[in-house]
Amino acid sequence: MKQPIVGYHIDEEDHWVAQLACGHNQHVRHNPPLVNRPWVITESGRESMLGYELNCVKCDQDMPVDNK
Ligand SMILES: [Zn+2]
Repeated sequence: MKQPIVGYHIDEEDHWVAQLACGHNQHVRHNPPLVNRPWVITESGRESMLGYELNCVKCDQDMPVDNK
C-alpha cells in the first residue's frame, strides 16, 4: 500500500528511517551502489521528499504500528 512520508528519524544504527502516514516506519538508507538515495543525506533533500509515497509492505501484511 502506498503511504506518504510524514517525517524522519535516525535509528540506533545511524540509519535514516521514514515515518509514514499509516504509522509504520521504513528504512530509507543511502547505501550505494545497492541503494541510491542521496536525498536522504541532506535536510533539504529529506524535506523535498515529505509527502512522497513509499510502498508500505507492513500495511499489506496488517502489521501493528511502529513505535516512533
Ligand atoms: Zn504502513
